[in-house]
Amino acid sequence: MAQKSQPLQTTCCIAGGGPAGMMLGYLLARAGVEVVVLEKHRDFFRDFRGDTIHPSTLELMNRLHLLDELLALPHQQLRQITAHFGGRTVHIADFSRLRTHSKFIAFMPQWDFLNFLERKAKQIPTFHLHMESQATDLIWDAGRVVGVIATTPAGQVEVRADLVVGADGRGSTVRQSAGLEVIDTGAPIDVLWFRLTKHPDDPPQAFGFVGAGQFMVLINRDEYWQCAYVIRKGAFEAKQQAGLDAFRDEIARCVPFLKGRTDEIRQWDQVKLLTVKVDHLRRWHRPGLLCIGDAAQAMSPVGGVGINLAIQDAVATARILAPRLLHHNLRSSDLQRVQTRRQFPARLTQRVQVFLHRHLLEPIFDSPTLIPPPLPMKLAEHCPPLRRLLANLIGVGIRPEYIPPKFPL
Ligand SMILES: Cc1cc2nc3c(=O)[nH]c(=O)nc-3n(C[C@H](O)[C@H](O)[C@H](O)COP(=O)(O)OP(=O)(O)OC[C@H]3O[C@@H](n4cnc5c(N)ncnc54)[C@H](O)[C@@H]3O)c2cc1C
Repeated sequence: MAQKSQPLQTTCCIAGGGPAGMMLGYLLARAGVEVVVLEKHRDFFRDFRGDTIHPSTLELMNRLHLLDELLALPHQQLRQITAHFGGRTVHIADFSRLRTHSKFIAFMPQWDFLNFLERKAKQIPTFHLHMESQATDLIWDAGRVVGVIATTPAGQVEVRADLVVGADGRGSTVRQSAGLEVIDTGAPIDVLWFRLTKHPDDPPQAFGFVGAGQFMVLINRDEYWQCAYVIRKGAFEAKQQAGLDAFRDEIARCVPFLKGRTDEIRQWDQVKLLTVKVDHLRRWHRPGLLCIGDAAQAMSPVGGVGINLAIQDAVATARILAPRLLHHNLRSSDLQRVQTRRQFPARLTQRVQVFLHRHLLEPIFDSPTLIPPPLPMKLAEHCPPLRRLLANLIGVGIRPEYIPPKFPL
């Protein structure tokens, strides 16, 4: 039976070591705040995270003087986004004229990015990361959250803190334990996630592929393609019943250059079902508790912007709360300031994602034949300023956060 250890005391306990939690932990520690990050997994090496680091995040890394070191890690640079409708290639977004230091999206396996943040954070004495430590419940005192109960390899641990942050993603335990109301927008899609070998003569910057009733994104990970095959929500079971051969044919129909290697998918357990959710919390906080990232607003993969928003939440949280946490005088109104600052960009982005679910993805699935590129894409194809605008929306987003010069650097 698990044993109960001595309570840990810290200033900020963050549940979840994803992009939001690790970035917040790093920034608060850099500002001198005592931080404990609890991550339920043993390492960051998981395949279902999304690999994009957007220009606005690269900008923040530059302000933190971490960019050169980060970009020394293996990555690919995506300078424009293209979609392939059958044989027709449409250029949708062009990052080359962004007013940011890095004019590209960096594709880097997310475990590399999180390991990088971990290495940097661990150099700061006030940062403490506990892996294999799963937040299971909150500790309350007189209507205020005063800590977290976590299951760790050493048994059950209580972490007491001035502030608990739920950065534990779309299935957040913290937000559930806090009884925060979740507004579920719903998403009509799920994603099948698998890899196929990459050949030297494959297109270098393959990205979105539209087929008849099909949509697939290919992420270049050097030796292999990380494939994200978008399906109607709930359609995976029917695909499994139709059999692997039918599935392999379907993939080859959507992206013809993959034909001949689809038999690398030998069994269904090589194909992971990633459930897509779009939701948000009406209120992100309780006294002593704040949710950020997907725990506050779960993002669809459409546009590949969720990681970026999670990091922006972390930056706003650190900027607004670090001075308060340092002086142990955090107020509920400070937590509301974080929500006020960040909910607008998240909600607006979700609205765009839901619009694209309805007006791009559903028409693709509804059509037995290949649809032509939708009007905004056709316009973007012929209008460079529109391509730049779309690049700005995707790469920088709405209300990007900044690191002020007086933030500890
Ligand atoms: C199929 C799919 C593909 C996507 N692709 C992209 C993409 O390419 N680019 C992009 O920008 N966005 C993408 N997104 C969205 C993106 O994944 C999220 O928006 C982003 O990861 C949110 O970051 P986060 O730190 O808030 O949460 P997460 O990344 O979910 O991290 C939460 C962390 O908390 C840990 N955790 C969970 N519960 C507990 C607990 N109880 N105790 C301790 N730790 C816990 C988890 O192990 C995890 O490490 C995709 C989403 C989906 C569904």
